[in-house]
Amino acid sequence: MDPLLTRIPAAKALSAQALAALRAVVGDAQVSVSPADLDLAGKATIPDAKRPAAIVSPANAEEVAAILRACADHGLHVWPVSAGRNWGYGSATAVREGAVLLRLARMNRILEVDERLAYAVIEPGVTYRQLRAHLDAHHPNLWCDTTDGPPEGSVIGNALDRGLGVTHYGDHFGTLCGMEVVLPTGELMRTGGGPAGCKTFYTHKWGVGPYVEGLFSQSNLGIVTKAGVWLMPKPEAFCSFTFDLAREQDLPRLVDGIRELALRQIVTSAVHLVNDICALSVLAQYPAHLVAGHSRLPPDALAEMRRKYLVASWSFGGGIQGTAAQVRLARKALRARLAPLGRLMFVDDATVRLASAVHSAARRGPLAKPLEWAVRRFAGKSLEMLEAGPHIHAVLKGVPSDYFVRHAYFKSEKPKPDRADPDGDDIGLIWFAPIAPMVGDTVTELLALCRTLFERFEFDFYAALLVQNPRSMIILTSIFYRKDDAGQTDNARALYHALGEATSQAGYQTYRMGVGSMAQLARNAPEFVAFARRLKHAADPDAVLAPGKYGA
Ligand code: ADP
Repeated sequence: MDPLLTRIPAAKALSAQALAALRAVVGDAQVSVSPADLDLAGKATIPDAKRPAAIVSPANAEEVAAILRACADHGLHVWPVSAGRNWGYGSATAVREGAVLLRLARMNRILEVDERLAYAVIEPGVTYRQLRAHLDAHHPNLWCDTTDGPPEGSVIGNALDRGLGVTHYGDHFGTLCGMEVVLPTGELMRTGGGPAGCKTFYTHKWGVGPYVEGLFSQSNLGIVTKAGVWLMPKPEAFCSFTFDLAREQDLPRLVDGIRELALRQIVTSAVHLVNDICALSVLAQYPAHLVAGHSRLPPDALAEMRRKYLVASWSFGGGIQGTAAQVRLARKALRARLAPLGRLMFVDDATVRLASAVHSAARRGPLAKPLEWAVRRFAGKSLEMLEAGPHIHAVLKGVPSDYFVRHAYFKSEKPKPDRADPDGDDIGLIWFAPIAPMVGDTVTELLALCRTLFERFEFDFYAALLVQNPRSMIILTSIFYRKDDAGQTDNARALYHALGEATSQAGYQTYRMGVGSMAQLARNAPEFVAFARRLKHAADPDAVLAPGKYGA
């Protein structure tokens, strides 16, 4: 058994008294122990997901506190999720079996939007789709960031796990300011150290005294029930761009170029530089005859797909925003730095409208064939890329999209659905995301290390390089595996483990962990975890809140 799991006292079984106590807090309708609900909640795209003992949906912070107290009284564990869309890292499942899953989705009020200071105050159930729709309807001069993941993901949930978005507000935890937290012992605390009604609660991130907001991210020290999130003013001008690298061997130069552009604040959006498998997973699916029996695309099939969809070895997109003059200057600087390395294309709203019209005409009608030929010949794009273009452009403006998450179905027999539900659809997907200093040679060295292991375990090497900040690059890799194939599932588990071992031995850490690998933190950094456990013990003497999360 994983050593992390042996040191956590097992949760007690849910007794009739405990169930009655939970029902007394939130009402019968907000507690579910139905086997069908528990089975569904226990599904995740990662292997070995854990089934909860009950699902409880509180309406406010007082109910959250009362649930924590009831669970402590009855020896139960609480696993909080806001939207539970933590796909690839564990979805809504806990480190250990039999926890009470605390779903905060009902707490979904947008409590305030301050237009002058550009922030919103929201509850954890607020999703990207909801926040953006609210801003568009009532505060059109403000934009929020989003991920290219599920639009129904929680703004606070993603920020607390330090997820990354797509615009210049992509560092989600960096844009949280002012939190209301229910501590494991049930007290309600405001962060920041200011007096009641503190005027800078949502504007002065560091507060005064020890900075404690960080303690509530990637941790198990409290449940955030309300937070301020900074928004951006709608820019005067915006355009997006796409870039295809001409020669694979120039990847280190490209990474160095992106770093320089980011350090000089010419590129400020969160760049996603993707390899061929990543691009193909967005644009296409495995050829039907290869789904069964192939855990990895044979080289000739990969080459054929790359030709068909006109996919480069590496390509990326980003957004430029500011005044019209700033955007013009940034375009010039980008062209100077990147054009020698490949094909750079700028996209504005008019180009998007044109692309959509050409795409429709090239899909049907008398001119379909010649149009498709012209698009491939002159723009260097496949029709599938033309279809993707408007989604890329929109998401870079912070508009959530269902389009990208469907890539999880790359290796599935099921066609990509309009609305992805990879947990419910039994899709096998594990994210492994080490992070490197953004130096071309270092990034390629780490990539080579990961690629070798993917090949050894016979999986397609999916990689997306994400600019986390101008100095660090996340190497987001994804293991697509078939859950209905026991051998492939074993290999996926073994590859995930091998990636963790090899990259930490080489001196790299991950930027975020899946629930299946949290024991590794204690092996890598024993003093660090010993300190985290001391804090945990002081804040949560009954070990009621998500024990084992991030090693503590
Ligand atoms: P999303 O749906 O946005 O991906 P999740 O709800 O799945 O986010 O949560 C992501 C991670 O953050 C999980 O580890 C979860 O336990 C933690 N988390 C989510 N919401 C809260 C919260 N309000 N307070 C404390 N931790 C949270």
